[in-house]
Amino acid sequence: MQLLEERIKKDGQVLGEDVLKVDNFLNHQVDPDLMAAMGEEFYRLFKDANITKILTVESSGIAPAVLAGLSFHVPVVFARKHKSLTLQDNMYSATVYSYTKKVNNHISISKKFIDENDRVLVIDDFLANGQAVEGLLEIIEQANAQLEGVGIVIEKTFQKGRELLDARGIHVESLARIAAFENGEVVFVEDK
Ligand code: 5GP
Repeated sequence: MQLLEERIKKDGQVLGEDVLKVDNFLNHQVDPDLMAAMGEEFYRLFKDANITKILTVESSGIAPAVLAGLSFHVPVVFARKHKSLTLQDNMYSATVYSYTKKVNNHISISKKFIDENDRVLVIDDFLANGQAVEGLLEIIEQANAQLEGVGIVIEKTFQKGRELLDARGIHVESLARIAAFENGEVVFVEDK
């Protein structure tokens, strides 16, 4: 998605070897016009899948997921993160290793908000090693819901998340695909 790639070039900051900071438009300050355009793009990509629900993880997935929900006219549910796993009968939950924070988070979703009649689109801000998405997939399985696809804002193709999801035959679409960071600059897959 060209608008997004231009914004990444303009405002993204490469940190270290493999982290992109996008707090100017996605992870802290949020650009609603860009989120809305991304929501429409996710709709174009998944409109034939009869999606009934969008799932994401707090906090950075919420903005793109809600704007996608606006395009699909379906509810958006975000998994909540908490540090210790207190046993909760009314929740589905999974453990997710956070790539950027280097800690384990437990994520959970109330059983009220997902069930076997749901056809789910998972949306997240980044795909790196795939842990966040895998946690959501675990929850979808627990609920016996149907996974229809995964929509990612920014994929880093040099990390192993995409490979994991492809190996499971999951329909993954990413709006921007980063092939590498070279000398502090972002190189997109199509520029390689
Ligand atoms: P994964 O679980 O795929 O390894 O990592 C995905 C999660 O880690 C995303 O939800 C995102 O919050 C965070 N993350 C991974 N890589 C990056 C990055 O390069 N920049 C930012 N800002 N967050 C990232």
